[in-house]
Amino acid sequence: MQHDYDLFVIGGGSGGVRAARIAAGHGAKVAVAEQYRFGGTCVIRGCVPKKLLVYASRFGDDFEDARGFGWSVGETRFDWAALISAKNKEIARLEGLYRAGLERAGVGIFEDRAEIEGPNAVRLVHAGKAVTARYILIATGGTPFVPDGVFGGGVSSSGSAAELVLTSNEVFDLPRLPGSVAIMGGGYIAVEFASLLAGLGSKVTLVYRGDKILRGFDGDLRTGLTESLAARGIDIRTGATVTGIDAGPWGVRIGIAGSTEIMADKVLVATGRTPATQGLGLETAGVRTGSRGEVLVDQHSRTSVRSIFAVGDVTDRANLTPVAIRQGHALADTLFGNKPWTADLAIVPTAVFSTPEIGTVGLTEAEAQATGRGIDIYKTRFRPMKNVLAGRDERTLMKLVVDAATDKVLGCHMLGPDAAEIVQMSAIALTMGATKAQFDATMPLHPCAAEEFVTLREKQPAGP
Ligand code: NDP
Repeated sequence: MQHDYDLFVIGGGSGGVRAARIAAGHGAKVAVAEQYRFGGTCVIRGCVPKKLLVYASRFGDDFEDARGFGWSVGETRFDWAALISAKNKEIARLEGLYRAGLERAGVGIFEDRAEIEGPNAVRLVHAGKAVTARYILIATGGTPFVPDGVFGGGVSSSGSAAELVLTSNEVFDLPRLPGSVAIMGGGYIAVEFASLLAGLGSKVTLVYRGDKILRGFDGDLRTGLTESLAARGIDIRTGATVTGIDAGPWGVRIGIAGSTEIMADKVLVATGRTPATQGLGLETAGVRTGSRGEVLVDQHSRTSVRSIFAVGDVTDRANLTPVAIRQGHALADTLFGNKPWTADLAIVPTAVFSTPEIGTVGLTEAEAQATGRGIDIYKTRFRPMKNVLAGRDERTLMKLVVDAATDKVLGCHMLGPDAAEIVQMSAIALTMGATKAQFDATMPLHPCAAEEFVTLREKQPAGP
Protein backbone atom coordinates (compact mmCIF):
# COMPACT_ATOMS: atom_id res chain seq x y z
CA MET A 1 0.00 0.00 0.00
CA GLN A 2 1.22 3.46 -0.91
CA HIS A 3 1.56 5.92 2.03
CA ASP A 4 2.25 9.66 2.06
CA TYR A 5 5.40 9.04 4.13
CA ASP A 6 7.69 6.20 5.10
CA LEU A 7 8.04 7.71 8.58
CA PHE A 8 5.94 10.30 10.34
CA VAL A 9 7.51 11.62 13.55
CA ILE A 10 5.34 13.27 16.20
CA GLY A 11 7.52 15.61 18.23
CA GLY A 12 10.51 17.72 17.13
CA GLY A 13 12.71 17.24 20.19
CA SER A 14 16.01 15.43 20.60
CA GLY A 15 14.76 11.91 19.83
CA GLY A 16 12.32 12.78 17.07
CA VAL A 17 14.65 15.07 15.16
CA ARG A 18 17.52 12.58 15.27
CA ALA A 19 15.28 9.75 14.03
CA ALA A 20 13.87 11.93 11.24
CA ARG A 21 17.26 13.12 9.99
CA ILE A 22 18.87 9.70 10.03
CA ALA A 23 15.86 8.05 8.37
CA ALA A 24 15.84 10.71 5.64
CA GLY A 25 19.59 10.16 5.20
CA HIS A 26 18.82 6.50 4.49
CA GLY A 27 16.48 7.62 1.70
CA ALA A 28 13.16 7.44 3.56
CA LYS A 29 10.40 9.99 2.92
CA VAL A 30 9.99 11.59 6.34
CA ALA A 31 7.90 14.32 8.01
CA VAL A 32 7.94 15.74 11.52
CA ALA A 33 5.13 17.53 13.35
CA GLU A 34 5.94 19.83 16.26
CA GLN A 35 3.25 21.77 18.09
CA TYR A 36 5.54 24.18 19.97
CA ARG A 37 9.19 24.81 19.05
CA PHE A 38 11.79 22.61 17.34
CA GLY A 39 14.46 21.42 19.75
CA GLY A 40 12.05 20.13 22.37
CA THR A 41 12.39 20.39 26.12
CA CYS A 42 16.18 20.03 26.15
CA VAL A 43 16.86 22.96 23.85
CA ILE A 44 13.90 25.23 24.52
CA ARG A 45 13.21 24.89 28.26
CA GLY A 46 15.51 22.29 29.71
CA CYS A 47 19.16 21.28 29.61
CA VAL A 48 20.50 24.05 27.37
CA PRO A 49 18.93 27.18 28.89
CA LYS A 50 19.45 25.64 32.35
CA LYS A 51 23.18 25.27 31.71
CA LEU A 52 23.37 28.89 30.52
CA LEU A 53 21.72 29.99 33.77
CA VAL A 54 24.12 27.76 35.72
CA TYR A 55 27.10 29.49 34.08
CA ALA A 56 25.58 32.84 35.01
CA SER A 57 25.06 31.73 38.60
CA ARG A 58 28.73 30.84 39.08
CA PHE A 59 30.24 34.24 38.33
CA GLY A 60 29.56 35.34 41.90
CA ASP A 61 32.01 32.69 43.13
CA ASP A 62 34.55 33.78 40.54
CA PHE A 63 34.35 37.43 41.62
CA GLU A 64 34.81 36.43 45.27
CA ASP A 65 37.61 33.95 44.58
CA ALA A 66 39.51 36.36 42.33
CA ARG A 67 40.52 38.45 45.34
CA GLY A 68 42.60 35.57 46.72
CA PHE A 69 44.55 35.58 43.46
CA GLY A 70 45.43 39.27 43.59
CA TRP A 71 42.54 40.73 41.62
CA SER A 72 40.53 43.67 42.83
CA VAL A 73 37.02 43.22 41.66
CA GLY A 74 34.94 46.38 41.54
CA GLU A 75 31.24 46.66 42.14
CA THR A 76 29.28 43.88 40.45
CA ARG A 77 25.62 43.89 39.48
CA PHE A 78 23.48 41.17 37.96
CA ASP A 79 20.83 41.92 35.35
CA TRP A 80 18.31 39.06 35.00
CA ALA A 81 16.58 40.61 31.99
CA ALA A 82 19.89 40.84 30.11
CA LEU A 83 20.64 37.18 30.87
CA ILE A 84 17.19 36.00 29.76
CA SER A 85 17.40 38.03 26.59
CA ALA A 86 20.85 36.55 25.75
CA LYS A 87 19.52 33.08 26.59
CA ASN A 88 16.50 33.61 24.33
CA LYS A 89 18.74 34.67 21.46
CA GLU A 90 20.87 31.54 21.82
CA ILE A 91 17.82 29.27 22.07
CA ALA A 92 16.35 30.83 18.92
CA ARG A 93 19.67 30.21 17.14
CA LEU A 94 19.71 26.57 18.19
CA GLU A 95 16.07 26.14 17.24
CA GLY A 96 16.97 27.48 13.80
CA LEU A 97 19.79 24.94 13.52
CA TYR A 98 17.44 22.09 14.38
CA ARG A 99 15.00 23.24 11.73
CA ALA A 100 17.74 23.82 9.14
CA GLY A 101 19.12 20.33 9.80
CA LEU A 102 15.72 18.83 9.08
CA GLU A 103 15.26 20.90 5.94
CA ARG A 104 18.73 20.01 4.66
CA ALA A 105 17.92 16.35 5.16
CA GLY A 106 14.73 16.79 3.10
CA VAL A 107 12.35 16.17 6.02
CA GLY A 108 8.85 17.66 5.68
CA ILE A 109 7.99 20.04 8.54
CA PHE A 110 4.56 20.58 10.05
CA GLU A 111 4.22 23.23 12.75
CA ASP A 112 1.14 21.60 14.09
CA ARG A 113 -0.19 19.21 16.67
CA ALA A 114 -0.44 15.69 15.33
CA GLU A 115 -2.68 12.97 16.72
CA ILE A 116 -2.78 9.32 15.79
CA GLU A 117 -5.90 8.14 13.97
CA GLY A 118 -4.87 4.57 13.26
CA PRO A 119 -1.85 2.31 12.81
CA ASN A 120 -0.80 4.24 9.70
CA ALA A 121 -2.72 7.51 9.98
CA VAL A 122 -2.00 10.82 11.65
CA ARG A 123 -4.23 13.87 11.84
CA LEU A 124 -2.76 17.36 11.74
CA VAL A 125 -5.07 19.15 14.12
CA HIS A 126 -4.82 22.78 13.01
CA ALA A 127 -4.38 22.07 9.32
CA GLY A 128 -7.41 19.77 9.63
CA LYS A 129 -5.94 17.14 7.35
CA ALA A 130 -4.86 13.53 7.66
CA VAL A 131 -1.71 11.93 6.30
CA THR A 132 -0.66 8.32 6.14
CA ALA A 133 2.68 6.73 6.94
CA ARG A 134 4.20 3.27 6.83
CA TYR A 135 5.68 3.89 10.27
CA ILE A 136 4.75 6.41 12.99
CA LEU A 137 7.21 7.47 15.67
CA ILE A 138 5.92 8.94 18.94
CA ALA A 139 8.58 11.28 20.35
CA THR A 140 6.43 13.74 22.28
CA GLY A 141 8.54 13.86 25.46
CA GLY A 142 7.02 14.86 28.78
CA THR A 143 5.39 17.70 30.65
CA PRO A 144 5.87 18.89 34.24
CA PHE A 145 3.91 16.84 36.74
CA VAL A 146 2.11 18.88 39.36
CA PRO A 147 0.60 16.87 42.23
CA ASP A 148 -3.10 17.25 43.00
CA GLY A 149 -3.70 19.92 45.57
CA VAL A 150 -0.97 22.22 44.29
CA PHE A 151 -2.63 23.64 41.22
CA GLY A 152 -6.35 23.10 41.63
CA GLY A 153 -7.80 22.18 45.03
CA GLY A 154 -4.99 23.31 47.30
CA VAL A 155 -4.24 26.60 45.62
CA SER A 156 -6.33 29.51 46.71
CA SER A 157 -6.35 31.76 43.66
CA SER A 158 -7.04 35.01 45.44
CA GLY A 159 -4.18 36.45 43.40
CA SER A 160 -3.00 35.33 40.01
CA ALA A 161 -1.80 31.96 41.30
CA ALA A 162 -0.61 30.85 37.91
CA GLU A 163 1.99 33.62 37.86
CA LEU A 164 3.26 32.74 41.32
CA VAL A 165 3.25 28.96 41.11
CA LEU A 166 5.78 27.99 38.47
CA THR A 167 7.00 24.83 36.80
CA SER A 168 10.17 24.45 34.74
CA ASN A 169 8.07 25.60 31.75
CA GLU A 170 7.69 29.11 33.16
CA VAL A 171 10.78 29.62 35.28
CA PHE A 172 13.05 30.34 32.31
CA ASP A 173 11.06 33.36 31.26
CA LEU A 174 10.29 35.24 34.45
CA PRO A 175 10.36 39.00 33.92
CA ARG A 176 12.60 39.42 36.98
CA LEU A 177 14.62 37.33 39.41
CA PRO A 178 12.39 36.58 42.40
CA GLY A 179 13.67 37.87 45.73
CA SER A 180 12.65 34.62 47.36
CA VAL A 181 11.65 31.23 45.96
CA ALA A 182 10.35 28.05 47.57
CA ILE A 183 11.08 24.94 45.53
CA MET A 184 9.02 21.81 45.94
CA GLY A 185 10.85 18.54 45.15
CA GLY A 186 14.28 17.06 45.73
CA GLY A 187 15.23 15.75 42.28
CA TYR A 188 17.28 17.10 39.37
CA ILE A 189 15.24 20.20 38.63
CA ALA A 190 14.60 21.20 42.25
CA VAL A 191 18.26 20.91 43.18
CA GLU A 192 19.62 22.57 40.04
CA PHE A 193 17.24 25.52 40.30
CA ALA A 194 17.77 25.87 44.05
CA SER A 195 21.45 26.17 43.37
CA LEU A 196 21.34 28.47 40.38
CA LEU A 197 18.68 30.82 41.73
CA ALA A 198 20.60 31.11 45.00
CA GLY A 199 23.78 31.80 43.02
CA LEU A 200 22.02 34.63 41.21
CA GLY A 201 20.81 36.16 44.48
CA SER A 202 17.40 34.69 45.37
CA LYS A 203 16.68 33.48 48.87
CA VAL A 204 15.87 29.81 48.34
CA THR A 205 13.98 27.30 50.47
CA LEU A 206 13.91 23.72 49.18
CA VAL A 207 10.97 21.68 50.42
CA TYR A 208 11.43 17.93 50.05
CA ARG A 209 9.20 15.14 51.35
CA GLY A 210 12.03 12.60 51.73
CA ASP A 211 14.85 12.48 54.25
CA LYS A 212 17.67 13.41 51.87
CA ILE A 213 17.65 15.15 48.47
CA LEU A 214 18.41 13.31 45.20
CA ARG A 215 16.96 9.93 45.95
CA GLY A 216 18.66 7.28 43.80
CA PHE A 217 22.07 8.99 43.80
CA ASP A 218 25.00 7.70 45.84
CA GLY A 219 24.56 8.43 49.55
CA ASP A 220 27.88 10.22 49.93
CA LEU A 221 27.04 12.57 47.06
CA ARG A 222 23.65 13.32 48.60
CA THR A 223 25.13 14.10 51.99
CA GLY A 224 28.02 16.11 50.56
CA LEU A 225 25.80 18.19 48.31
CA THR A 226 23.29 18.83 51.09
CA GLU A 227 26.11 20.20 53.25
CA SER A 228 27.48 22.38 50.46
CA LEU A 229 24.09 23.81 49.50
CA ALA A 230 23.30 24.56 53.15
CA ALA A 231 26.68 26.26 53.56
CA ARG A 232 25.79 28.38 50.55
CA GLY A 233 22.67 29.62 52.32
CA ILE A 234 19.98 27.38 50.85
CA ASP A 235 17.39 26.44 53.44
CA ILE A 236 16.75 22.72 52.89
CA ARG A 237 13.62 21.39 54.63
CA THR A 238 13.49 17.61 54.44
CA GLY A 239 10.67 15.39 55.64
CA ALA A 240 8.40 18.24 54.62
CA THR A 241 4.99 17.43 53.15
CA VAL A 242 3.28 20.31 51.40
CA THR A 243 -0.32 20.60 52.55
CA GLY A 244 -1.33 23.40 50.20
CA ILE A 245 -0.18 26.50 48.42
CA ASP A 246 -1.99 29.72 48.90
CA ALA A 247 -1.19 32.53 46.49
CA GLY A 248 -2.17 36.17 46.61
CA PRO A 249 -0.89 39.61 45.67
CA TRP A 250 1.50 39.32 48.64
CA GLY A 251 3.20 36.22 47.22
CA VAL A 252 2.96 32.55 48.05
CA ARG A 253 2.37 30.75 51.34
CA ILE A 254 3.32 27.08 51.44
CA GLY A 255 1.76 25.01 54.20
CA ILE A 256 3.97 22.24 55.58
CA ALA A 257 2.49 19.38 57.64
CA GLY A 258 3.45 19.79 61.30
CA SER A 259 5.69 22.79 60.65
CA THR A 260 5.61 26.51 60.14
CA GLU A 261 4.52 27.72 56.73
CA ILE A 262 6.96 29.17 54.24
CA MET A 263 6.45 32.54 52.60
CA ALA A 264 8.06 33.32 49.26
CA ASP A 265 7.64 35.51 46.20
CA LYS A 266 7.29 32.47 43.97
CA VAL A 267 7.08 28.70 44.26
CA LEU A 268 8.65 26.35 41.74
CA VAL A 269 7.02 22.93 41.61
CA ALA A 270 9.65 20.40 40.48
CA THR A 271 8.00 17.11 41.32
CA GLY A 272 8.83 15.12 38.21
CA ARG A 273 7.55 14.91 34.67
CA THR A 274 4.74 12.95 33.01
CA PRO A 275 4.93 11.34 29.55
CA ALA A 276 3.10 13.57 27.05
CA THR A 277 0.53 11.12 25.73
CA GLN A 278 -2.73 12.84 26.57
CA GLY A 279 -5.09 13.20 23.63
CA LEU A 280 -2.59 11.60 21.28
CA GLY A 281 -5.08 8.99 20.07
CA LEU A 282 -3.12 6.05 21.47
CA GLU A 283 -6.22 4.16 22.56
CA THR A 284 -7.84 4.54 19.15
CA ALA A 285 -4.75 3.10 17.52
CA GLY A 286 -4.36 0.34 20.13
CA VAL A 287 -1.01 1.55 21.52
CA ARG A 288 -0.61 0.27 25.07
CA THR A 289 0.43 2.63 27.85
CA GLY A 290 1.61 2.12 31.43
CA SER A 291 0.31 3.48 34.71
CA ARG A 292 2.01 6.88 34.25
CA GLY A 293 0.72 7.22 30.70
CA GLU A 294 4.07 6.16 29.23
CA VAL A 295 4.09 4.37 25.89
CA LEU A 296 5.11 0.77 26.54
CA VAL A 297 7.93 -0.34 24.25
CA ASP A 298 10.44 -3.16 23.96
CA GLN A 299 14.19 -2.53 23.69
CA HIS A 300 13.77 -1.91 19.94
CA SER A 301 11.33 0.95 20.74
CA ARG A 302 8.43 -1.07 19.29
CA THR A 303 4.97 -0.42 20.75
CA SER A 304 2.07 -2.87 20.86
CA VAL A 305 1.17 -1.75 17.31
CA ARG A 306 3.56 -3.08 14.65
CA SER A 307 3.78 0.16 12.66
CA ILE A 308 4.12 2.50 15.66
CA PHE A 309 7.32 3.17 17.62
CA ALA A 310 8.24 5.47 20.49
CA VAL A 311 11.51 6.94 21.79
CA GLY A 312 12.63 9.31 24.53
CA ASP A 313 10.87 10.59 27.65
CA VAL A 314 7.42 9.55 26.39
CA THR A 315 8.54 5.96 27.03
CA ASP A 316 9.78 6.81 30.55
CA ARG A 317 12.94 4.71 30.34
CA ALA A 318 16.07 6.77 31.20
CA ASN A 319 14.71 10.28 30.69
CA LEU A 320 17.83 11.96 29.40
CA THR A 321 18.53 13.71 26.10
CA PRO A 322 21.43 11.52 24.91
CA VAL A 323 19.32 8.42 25.55
CA ALA A 324 16.47 9.76 23.39
CA ILE A 325 18.96 10.65 20.65
CA ARG A 326 20.49 7.16 20.66
CA GLN A 327 17.05 5.53 20.66
CA GLY A 328 15.92 7.67 17.70
CA HIS A 329 19.14 7.00 15.80
CA ALA A 330 19.00 3.25 16.44
CA LEU A 331 15.40 3.08 15.29
CA ALA A 332 16.08 4.95 12.04
CA ASP A 333 19.10 2.75 11.26
CA THR A 334 17.07 -0.36 12.04
CA LEU A 335 14.01 0.57 9.97
CA PHE A 336 15.70 2.18 6.99
CA GLY A 337 19.46 1.64 7.11
CA ASN A 338 19.63 -2.14 7.24
CA LYS A 339 21.71 -1.70 10.42
CA PRO A 340 19.71 -3.01 13.38
CA TRP A 341 20.96 -1.92 16.80
CA THR A 342 19.58 -0.78 20.14
CA ALA A 343 20.68 1.91 22.57
CA ASP A 344 22.51 0.29 25.49
CA LEU A 345 21.19 1.68 28.78
CA ALA A 346 23.40 -0.45 31.04
CA ILE A 347 25.80 2.40 31.78
CA VAL A 348 24.33 5.90 31.57
CA PRO A 349 26.39 8.76 33.00
CA THR A 350 24.47 11.69 34.37
CA ALA A 351 25.10 15.02 36.08
CA VAL A 352 23.30 17.37 38.40
CA PHE A 353 24.35 20.91 37.54
CA SER A 354 24.19 22.28 41.03
CA THR A 355 27.13 24.24 42.43
CA PRO A 356 29.13 22.22 43.33
CA GLU A 357 28.04 19.80 40.63
CA ILE A 358 27.55 16.06 40.61
CA GLY A 359 28.79 13.67 37.94
CA THR A 360 27.96 10.02 38.32
CA VAL A 361 28.10 6.78 36.34
CA GLY A 362 27.42 3.17 37.20
CA LEU A 363 26.20 1.67 40.44
CA THR A 364 25.87 3.60 43.68
CA GLU A 365 27.30 1.97 46.78
CA ALA A 366 23.79 0.93 47.89
CA GLU A 367 22.93 -0.50 44.46
CA ALA A 368 26.17 -2.47 44.33
CA GLN A 369 25.54 -3.83 47.83
CA ALA A 370 22.00 -4.81 46.87
CA THR A 371 23.38 -7.10 44.15
CA GLY A 372 24.78 -9.23 46.96
CA ARG A 373 28.38 -9.17 45.74
CA GLY A 374 31.33 -8.10 47.84
CA ILE A 375 32.38 -4.52 47.12
CA ASP A 376 35.32 -2.30 47.90
CA ILE A 377 34.91 1.43 48.33
CA TYR A 378 37.61 3.96 47.53
CA LYS A 379 36.92 7.59 48.27
CA THR A 380 38.55 10.87 48.99
CA ARG A 381 37.37 14.28 50.14
CA PHE A 382 39.69 17.20 49.64
CA ARG A 383 39.78 20.92 49.26
CA PRO A 384 40.45 21.62 45.58
CA MET A 385 43.68 23.55 44.93
CA LYS A 386 41.86 26.66 43.72
CA ASN A 387 39.82 26.89 46.91
CA VAL A 388 42.87 27.33 49.13
CA LEU A 389 43.94 30.76 47.89
CA ALA A 390 40.30 31.66 47.32
CA GLY A 391 39.62 31.02 51.01
CA ARG A 392 36.72 28.74 50.15
CA ASP A 393 36.08 25.74 52.39
CA GLU A 394 34.02 23.69 49.96
CA ARG A 395 35.37 20.16 49.44
CA THR A 396 35.39 17.84 46.47
CA LEU A 397 34.28 14.23 46.88
CA MET A 398 35.41 11.39 44.63
CA LYS A 399 34.40 7.78 45.01
CA LEU A 400 34.83 4.45 43.24
CA VAL A 401 32.69 1.40 43.88
CA VAL A 402 34.63 -1.74 42.96
CA ASP A 403 33.61 -5.39 42.68
CA ALA A 404 35.80 -7.12 45.28
CA ALA A 405 35.89 -10.41 43.37
CA THR A 406 36.58 -9.20 39.82
CA ASP A 407 38.19 -5.81 40.58
CA LYS A 408 35.82 -4.25 38.02
CA VAL A 409 34.88 -0.62 38.68
CA LEU A 410 31.11 -0.63 39.09
CA GLY A 411 30.52 3.01 39.92
CA CYS A 412 32.33 6.33 39.69
CA HIS A 413 30.92 9.32 41.55
CA MET A 414 32.06 12.89 41.99
CA LEU A 415 30.87 16.06 43.70
CA GLY A 416 32.91 19.11 42.84
CA PRO A 417 33.98 21.48 40.06
CA ASP A 418 33.94 19.91 36.57
CA ALA A 419 32.41 16.66 37.88
CA ALA A 420 30.30 16.29 34.73
CA GLU A 421 33.33 16.70 32.43
CA ILE A 422 35.44 14.27 34.43
CA VAL A 423 32.78 11.59 34.82
CA GLN A 424 31.92 11.67 31.11
CA MET A 425 35.49 10.49 30.48
CA SER A 426 35.48 7.87 33.22
CA ALA A 427 32.24 6.54 31.69
CA ILE A 428 34.38 5.32 28.77
CA ALA A 429 36.45 3.24 31.18
CA LEU A 430 33.35 1.80 32.88
CA THR A 431 31.74 1.02 29.51
CA MET A 432 34.90 -0.87 28.56
CA GLY A 433 34.68 -2.82 31.83
CA ALA A 434 37.83 -1.31 33.36
CA THR A 435 39.20 -2.72 36.60
CA LYS A 436 40.55 -0.78 39.56
CA ALA A 437 44.02 -2.08 38.62
CA GLN A 438 43.61 -0.43 35.19
CA PHE A 439 42.58 2.84 36.82
CA ASP A 440 45.73 2.54 38.98
CA ALA A 441 47.91 1.76 35.95
CA THR A 442 46.75 4.97 34.24
CA MET A 443 49.41 7.68 34.52
CA PRO A 444 48.06 10.63 36.50
CA LEU A 445 47.90 14.06 34.88
CA HIS A 446 49.22 16.55 37.39
CA PRO A 447 48.00 18.81 38.89
CA CYS A 448 44.31 18.30 38.31
CA ALA A 449 41.37 16.97 40.30
CA ALA A 450 40.67 14.04 37.97
CA GLU A 451 44.03 12.43 38.77
CA GLU A 452 42.58 11.46 42.15
CA PHE A 453 40.51 8.81 40.37
CA VAL A 454 43.72 7.01 39.32
CA THR A 455 45.55 7.45 42.64
CA LEU A 456 42.96 6.15 45.12
CA ARG A 457 44.88 3.71 47.33
CA GLU A 458 43.02 3.23 50.61
CA LYS A 459 40.18 0.76 50.64
CA GLN A 460 37.36 1.92 52.89
CA PRO A 461 34.72 -0.21 54.51
CA ALA A 462 31.41 -0.23 52.62
CA GLY A 463 28.61 1.63 54.38
CA PRO A 464 25.92 -0.04 56.49
P1 NDP B 1 12.84 13.92 39.49
O1 NDP B 1 12.17 12.64 39.20
O2 NDP B 1 14.32 14.00 39.37
O3 NDP B 1 12.46 14.40 40.96
C1 NDP B 1 11.13 14.55 41.34
C2 NDP B 1 11.11 15.00 42.79
O4 NDP B 1 9.80 15.35 43.15
C3 NDP B 1 11.57 13.91 43.74
O5 NDP B 1 12.35 14.51 44.74
C4 NDP B 1 10.26 13.37 44.29
O6 NDP B 1 10.35 12.88 45.60
C5 NDP B 1 9.41 14.63 44.30
N1 NDP B 1 7.98 14.34 44.20
C6 NDP B 1 7.35 13.57 43.30
N2 NDP B 1 6.03 13.55 43.51
C7 NDP B 1 5.81 14.33 44.58
C8 NDP B 1 4.65 14.69 45.31
N3 NDP B 1 3.45 14.23 44.97
N4 NDP B 1 4.79 15.50 46.37
C9 NDP B 1 6.00 15.95 46.74
N5 NDP B 1 7.14 15.66 46.10
C10 NDP B 1 7.04 14.84 45.04
O7 NDP B 1 12.09 14.97 38.56
P2 NDP B 1 12.45 16.47 38.13
O8 NDP B 1 11.14 17.15 37.99
O9 NDP B 1 13.48 17.07 39.01
O10 NDP B 1 13.09 16.26 36.71
C11 NDP B 1 12.38 15.52 35.72
C12 NDP B 1 13.31 14.68 34.90
O11 NDP B 1 14.01 15.50 33.98
C13 NDP B 1 14.41 13.97 35.68
O12 NDP B 1 14.01 12.77 36.23
C14 NDP B 1 15.46 13.77 34.63
O13 NDP B 1 15.13 12.63 33.90
C15 NDP B 1 15.29 15.00 33.75
N6 NDP B 1 16.29 16.05 34.09
C16 NDP B 1 17.62 15.77 33.93
C17 NDP B 1 18.56 16.74 34.24
C18 NDP B 1 20.01 16.43 34.06
O14 NDP B 1 20.34 15.44 33.41
N7 NDP B 1 20.93 17.22 34.63
C19 NDP B 1 18.19 18.05 34.71
C20 NDP B 1 16.78 18.22 34.87
C21 NDP B 1 15.88 17.25 34.56
P3 NDP B 1 10.80 11.38 45.92
O15 NDP B 1 12.30 11.33 45.78
O16 NDP B 1 10.36 11.19 47.32
O17 NDP B 1 10.09 10.51 44.95
